[in-house]
Amino acid sequence: MIIEVTNLHKSFGENEVLTGIDCTVAESEVVCVIGPSGSGKSTLLRCLNRLEDITAGEVVVDGYHLTDRKIRIDDVRAEIGMVFQQFNLFPHKSVIENIMLAPMKVRGLSAHEARERGRVLLQKVGLQEKENAYPSSLSGGQQQRVAIARALAMEPKIMLFDEPTSALDPELVGEVLAVMKDLAREGMTMVVVTHEMGFAREVGDRVLFMDGGVIVEEGTPTQVFDHPRETRTRAFLEKVL
Ligand code: ADP
Ligand code: MG
Repeated sequence: MIIEVTNLHKSFGENEVLTGIDCTVAESEVVCVIGPSGSGKSTLLRCLNRLEDITAGEVVVDGYHLTDRKIRIDDVRAEIGMVFQQFNLFPHKSVIENIMLAPMKVRGLSAHEARERGRVLLQKVGLQEKENAYPSSLSGGQQQRVAIARALAMEPKIMLFDEPTSALDPELVGEVLAVMKDLAREGMTMVVVTHEMGFAREVGDRVLFMDGGVIVEEGTPTQVFDHPRETRTRAFLEKVL
């Protein structure tokens, strides 16, 4: 297991938003996390690279115990790519510069090496001709594909996606999901918080349904979507499907 979460609790002040999460992710597995707004999906994802402090419990990622204060969290984060709903590209840098930055700073690549790697990745996400464009000249779907390429430039072992298509116009969702699907096919380990039930069904190896800070139900897409066991899962699916 490349990710192991045991009895994870997370509070913001008095408000306990994760109340005992247990889950694991195997190498090359694609786990989709679904559930209503406010159920703790983003918080769980952010605990996996300690963007949020862990209140109690254990999170082990690629052998690193995240609650161990002696680990260097930057070493862990270098193994984990994250893509957010908002693309967060650097507006004053070109597409290729956005992608080159972290590999040069964190991995010590030369500008030449970083540019070459960036070009390969731009090709992969179908944007090789946008190398010198600035983010503001791109569509949301193109910006999100650049954000994915930027994350991949660090050669992460794990990719975390937090509603990567939720800010996009409907006609741009497909191009981003297609890039994610390719990644899954190549064997990337992925945790994907999403409202795209079609994607979860088709690409997910496993689906976790969260509500009220717990994982209410998990299983294969067929189990969760076609044969939900829990009332709360059924109620949620009735609303979104
Ligand atoms: P989801 O992603 O499923 O919509 P979140 O993980 O964003 O849910 O939020 C779960 C709960 O935690 C919500 O009630 C939210 O208000 C609360 N929360 C999230 N982040 C913070 C924060 N930084 N400070 C205080 N409360 C937060
Ligand atoms: Mg969220």
